[in-house]
Formats: sequence, C-alpha cells, structure tokens
Amino acid sequence: MKPEMNKDIPVLLLAWYDAHARVLPWRKKNDPYRIWVSEIMLQQTRAETVLPYYEKFIGELPDIRALAAAPEERVFKLWQGLGYYRRARNMQLAAKIVAETLGGILPSTAEELKKLPGIGEYTAGAIASIAFNRRTSAVDGNVLRIVARLYGIADSIEDRTVASQIRDIVTGLLPDTRVGDFNQALMDLGATVCLPNGEPLCKECPLAEFCEAHNRNLISVLPKRSDRPQRPRQDHTVLILECQGRFALQKRPENVLLASLWQFPMLQGASDFGGCKKALPFLTDDAVLSVAPIPSHRHIFSHLQWDLAGYFIRLKEIPCDAPYIWAAAEDIRKNYSVPSAFKPYMKIITGE
Ligand code: SF4
Repeated sequence: MKPEMNKDIPVLLLAWYDAHARVLPWRKKNDPYRIWVSEIMLQQTRAETVLPYYEKFIGELPDIRALAAAPEERVFKLWQGLGYYRRARNMQLAAKIVAETLGGILPSTAEELKKLPGIGEYTAGAIASIAFNRRTSAVDGNVLRIVARLYGIADSIEDRTVASQIRDIVTGLLPDTRVGDFNQALMDLGATVCLPNGEPLCKECPLAEFCEAHNRNLISVLPKRSDRPQRPRQDHTVLILECQGRFALQKRPENVLLASLWQFPMLQGASDFGGCKKALPFLTDDAVLSVAPIPSHRHIFSHLQWDLAGYFIRLKEIPCDAPYIWAAAEDIRKNYSVPSAFKPYMKIITGE
C-alpha cells in the first residue's frame, strides 16, 4: 500500500465523480424523502430497474405524509415488480412514525435514522451523508467489493469482522466536505467500473494505480465470499380457478413470506388433481367444467426456492364455501398486488 493512498483516494474519486456521476432523478434536488425512497428501492436492485418504479412512486406519493396516509394495498401495488415487499411495508411504517411523532421531518443523523423500521446501517449512512452531508460512511456490498479489491483483503467480505474493518477503512477515507458525493462516487464506481459480475473496467478506474487486486493480478479471486449453503426448495401447487370470467385470489397471511400480498390459491407440496380435489372439497365432478395443467415455474428468493406447478380449472359456479375473492383479469392487473413469483400465471389470465 502506498503511503499517500488514503489521502489521494477521496481526491481522485471526487474528481472522477464530477466527470462521470450517473444522472439519476433522486439526485436532481436534495430532498431527504426522495433519497430515502431511492435507497430503499436500490437495495438488491439495479438503478436502471428502479427508475420507472421510482418515478411512479414519487409521482403518486410525493412526500412522507402522502406515503404515511396511503392505503397499504396501494403502496404494494406501486412496489409490484420490485420484490422484497417487506421494504415497502417498513418504509410506510417508518413514514407513519415520522409523520405522527417527528412532525413529518426525517431525522438527519445516522443514529436517529437507524431507529426507524427498515433503515439499517448502510441506508442510514447513505441518507445522512447524501441528504444532510453528515460525515458518515455508507458501506454496502458494492463498497465491500471495491475496498476488498483496492486493499487486497483476502478474507471473506461476508465475515462480520471483515465488513467492520472495511467500514473503518472507508470512515478513514471520508473527506471533510462533500461526504455525500464521496459515498455516491463509491456507489457509481461499483455500478459502472468495479463491476460485481464479470471483469471490472480497471482501465477506466481512477483508483487503479493504488489497487492491490489490479496490480497483483488478484481480480479473479477478490472479493472472497463464504461458501453459501444451498437454498432450501419448496414445491407448491398453484390453482388458477376461473368462473364466468373471474379468477380466484387469496390474500397471504401476515408474518409470512410475501405477507398480505395476493396469490392464486396454492397448496403446499406437489399435488396431482386428485390431491387438489381432496384438499378442496368444492372441486366436485359436477362443479368442474375443465382441468388443464399449467406450466411449471421456478422462483428464486434470496434464501429459498419455490417450484410451482398446478392446474387451470374452469368452474360452473362460484363456490360459496371457498375463502377467495373473485375478480376479472383486468381488475387483478390494475388493483391487486400479485408478487412476481406468480408472473407466468398472471400472464395466462391477462395475456401480458
Ligand atoms: S482498479 Fe479495477 S479492481 Fe481495482 S478498484 Fe478499480 S475497477 Fe476495481
């Protein structure tokens, strides 16, 4: 490591940011609410994917009080397609706390921000530094990767001690001014140059002269990650029940994966049609007009894998003892939050 490294990195990085910063809508004006919304949306999601969702969300819910007052179902609908709905739920919970107890004003320090639901170490640092120019770091997976390469850190960045060491390194690099820009420069470097997948673009990197991974040919081995256990998998049987142009939907319970969102009726485990009839007694021979299998679909969550298959079943009449709501395809598309795990099945009913 060169002795001048820690002094030069922020200078080089800020100069690079001045020339190469990504143009993003939440950077147009310094609005803490917009920065917060963008940071929550950007968790696990690329900026290009977030853009249309962000514009729509801000267009409809332009400030904290609007988010606090919105029906949860509407917030989910605006979030639909981004996944990880817990982020939306927590953000609305936090907005209610801010609206009801903090006069509608988001706290300005990382310590206070972290007390709100859904705001962790990274997000608190990002909001406090970008919106309020607080001298605090914002270290996410991108920054862990950059710093591990830059300093040649050979231990797993998923190890808490290593992550904490990296946070200390970044804190030591923070400039006295333009802290928000410094953190955003690291974010942009991770998104556009020191890439997560594939070869980093070291020739375009303002820090290449200092970079251990680049200079010692360690790019293919850094950052190191711990061996991950295999995701558990679950089989489910999805039933698209149609009656006179309307489809059955059921709301998922609270406190489960995809809590409070809408799904097609689903049975745990892989069932043949005989198994479905046993589980749902209203599927009598008299009631069922036709049955056809629907394509299988695998949906991968961060910690779990679902393997879905099932049946499209036409019914003569809406069964009065079934615990579902029945809605037309267009109504479902517009007004119900059906998570992307069921996207191929939504396509079957809406044709889109
Ligand atoms: S030189 Fe290459 S590996 Fe090192 S920080 Fe820059 S882009 Fe990443």
